Amino acid sequence: MQNRVYFFDTTLRDGEQSPGATMNLQEKLCLANQLEKLGIDVLEAGFPATSPGDFEAVKTIAEQMDSMQIAGLCRCLEADIDRCWEAIRHAKNPRIHTVLATSPLHMKHKLRKRSEDVLKMIEVGVKHCSAYTDNVEFSAEDASRSDRDFLCRAAETAIRAGARIINIPDTVGYAQPEEFGALIAYVIANTANSDKAIFSVHCHNDLGLGVANTLAALAAGARQAEVTLSGIGERAGNAALEEVVMALTVRKDYFGLTHAIATEQLYPSCRMLALTIGRPIPDNKAIVGANAFAHESGIHQDGMLKHRETYEIMTPQSVGRKQSSLVIGKHSGRNAVRNKFENMGYKLDDAQINVVFEAVKQLADRKKVLHDDDLTALVQEAIHRIPDRYRLRHVSVQSSDCGGVPPTAAVIMDVDGEEKSGAGFGVGPVDALFNVIADMLGQTPELEQYAVTAITGGTDALGEVTVRLRENEFTAMGRGAHPDILVASAKAYVNAMNRLAKKY
Ligand SMILES: [Zn+2]
Repeated sequence: MQNRVYFFDTTLRDGEQSPGATMNLQEKLCLANQLEKLGIDVLEAGFPATSPGDFEAVKTIAEQMDSMQIAGLCRCLEADIDRCWEAIRHAKNPRIHTVLATSPLHMKHKLRKRSEDVLKMIEVGVKHCSAYTDNVEFSAEDASRSDRDFLCRAAETAIRAGARIINIPDTVGYAQPEEFGALIAYVIANTANSDKAIFSVHCHNDLGLGVANTLAALAAGARQAEVTLSGIGERAGNAALEEVVMALTVRKDYFGLTHAIATEQLYPSCRMLALTIGRPIPDNKAIVGANAFAHESGIHQDGMLKHRETYEIMTPQSVGRKQSSLVIGKHSGRNAVRNKFENMGYKLDDAQINVVFEAVKQLADRKKVLHDDDLTALVQEAIHRIPDRYRLRHVSVQSSDCGGVPPTAAVIMDVDGEEKSGAGFGVGPVDALFNVIADMLGQTPELEQYAVTAITGGTDALGEVTVRLRENEFTAMGRGAHPDILVASAKAYVNAMNRLAKKY
């Protein structure tokens, strides 16, 4: 059995199903570029049949990526498969990923089909895929709650019809590691022609076992892992890419498996995702959290100083957590800035470089040295905003203690190309600011979430604000970065208003 593990990333598909993690096309392209740099083997770009927006995103990514295989998800139905192929066909190496449920529960209540009919659907559907490409993956949805022998028959049918990858998902996050490993071994041993396919797993984290189940499956013979950055995804999420990769890397002695991931790109990738969806990485998150390499206790610090390996099983550098040696500041030229962003995974055209370069200079006037994190925030802010109906021009906010005038905000902004101004009060300065803007736009969305993070240390740090607004069934995330957190708040609020306006 070969020892190479293939990484299949579904951050843009399953990950995007995570509430509040909707991304626009620019953002998806940027992440896709970063994932290619990270060394992902297969990128699942989306589910083309769900909406025209999804279709366009998958198509554009398929056309623009170089080396990665690009997968599109589709149900095991001809119309879905056709739509999927239409979106991915121009990729260098497209993969059709087709899915059908095999558990009694799903077959009876969701599909309303007998098991024999399900096998027939697999045969017909996979053959339809194979007519387009020989790169076909079949997923048996809810595999972990399927009958073992029926699962083998489903896999057999799919392989006979032309599938080269058989995915066994723990769709509902129900499996236990030993049990799941045993299931994978059983299916591989009892499926005819199993040597003609690569077995894959896709584990959800409902019981916090996504990574453990994935590793158990790899130890049992699976050779493709379906994962997402930071483990984002439907409900409690998926197996976290960075955790599976580092377990295989740090414990190569145990697993004896290899992969093609550039581990030093793990942190930059997770960081880019966090900024894109406006959700900070939790401090205690393994591998990429702020505290993952922080040694607090005196005994540990003492040990670390004497010999790093006393308390450190991997270096921060190995997962890409280092300060870059190339420092960007006030005197950096356009080329240095371009170079820097390219190293960070952002391919920018000339017009975008001009915008970013201006923003770098403005920020460098306020802050001596710009860290990588400042620059990531800045490029997200400068480039990836969707075309705006509303643009903030000036903000002035007055704080106050309880006695006299309440906190006051004045705002000047462009609304559909026309300059407007407004002023008003609030319980606090942020409240005042949001009231004024909402008033000026004649809307009253509900503020569901408001979070401030200092991107880098020090009182001159760039503050990053994310807000989530709700209007009826629609929610939108907005973010803004600025050394003044009130200005950052206003930017984030206007950004979210723009998204609400676009129903994006
Ligand atoms: Zn999933």
